[in-house]
Amino acid sequence: MKELLAQRVNPDVSSALAGLFPKDPDPSAVTFAAGSPNEQLFPVKAVQAAFNTAIETQGAHLFQYQSSQGNLALRQKLVARIAKWGQVTTKAENIVLTVGGQQGIELVAKALLDPGDDIAVEVPTYIGALAAFDLYQPHYHAVPLQADGLDLDALEATLKRYPKTKLLYTVPDYHNPTGITMSVAKRQQLVALANRYNVVILEDTPYRDLGYESTPLPAIKSFDTEGRVIFLSSFSKILMPALRTGWLVADGDILQAILKVRLASDLEATGVTHAAINAYMDANDIDQHIAHMTTHYKQQRDAMLRGLAAYFPDGATYTKPAGGFFDWVTLPQGIDADQLMYDVISPQAHVTYVPATNFYPNRDVHNALRLSFSGLAPQTIDSGMHRLGDQLKAAIHA
Ligand code: PMP
Repeated sequence: MKELLAQRVNPDVSSALAGLFPKDPDPSAVTFAAGSPNEQLFPVKAVQAAFNTAIETQGAHLFQYQSSQGNLALRQKLVARIAKWGQVTTKAENIVLTVGGQQGIELVAKALLDPGDDIAVEVPTYIGALAAFDLYQPHYHAVPLQADGLDLDALEATLKRYPKTKLLYTVPDYHNPTGITMSVAKRQQLVALANRYNVVILEDTPYRDLGYESTPLPAIKSFDTEGRVIFLSSFSKILMPALRTGWLVADGDILQAILKVRLASDLEATGVTHAAINAYMDANDIDQHIAHMTTHYKQQRDAMLRGLAAYFPDGATYTKPAGGFFDWVTLPQGIDADQLMYDVISPQAHVTYVPATNFYPNRDVHNALRLSFSGLAPQTIDSGMHRLGDQLKAAIHA
């Protein structure tokens, strides 16, 4: 019944996210593919206690319809948090709690994009953002990343050539998939460019608290004087993803449009969970929890960097992420990371990663891959990297 489906669904092309969730995962594989947080670091008991506190203190009312923007007390806490860690000044009225950062991206796409609209995305970029944008049928313009973030000259050239570009999507902190962080100077220059060319910036920052060498840089939103930056973040990486709670900060017409589409989408996000997160933050120091997590993630990151240095072939270059979950490896031209993984590395070495094509709107880069160290113990990372490195050596020298 394909003829009955909306064109936006494009039934002959699977969701950009589909490849991330294999139907029959190999249980013996070392998977560098999944970007999931480490479950062993989830504060299960404290969150369980927080749910109990929320229910005991608020009773039946907790289970009533609540605000479409989300729990006010939690939004107030977030105002203080992003002022402290992101240097963003805002108010609780400007915050919308979302069903994960993923819904935030979707709401922004729904609020801004008509079919055929021009949007700019850094490449490579977050697969889930492509999956959300795809449904609104934009015209993508890919802007390359440099070691210190988005290539602003390339962005300006794009904006000159496509002056109707509406939206730029960027992950400035410990980027998914490359681990790259945008410099402060570029954050400032990016806002100036967006002002000049009348572009909205979607600043997606789920990893911004997970730095292994530094505290978070000022958000791009902190340089916004015209209300054109939408700041988006999430509890998925600093608490747990199944809480499905993210938040965005927006202003003026953009905020109103997002609230309108949010009502149509789901009326409101998960109020019971918001109250539990709020109770968790009352009873615990979330920054202490984050510090505990980053100590572990740093060890995992270090194990991956050691593996890259020890086992990978000379022809492979890689990023050195200062935070987050990911490393990006570039192989010599002509090597197809997709084919290599499905035909050789996964069946023979039982190692998986995400091939580069998935992170490009036009699926036109083949010789790179994303490795995630977030869910694996250092010893597992070491043995997986050894196996992967040997396979890559064989492929490059074949
Ligand atoms: N943005 C980026 C860059 C991500 O990596 C992710 C999840 N991996 C998300 C958004 C969405 O996460 P969630 O919906 O769990 O907050």
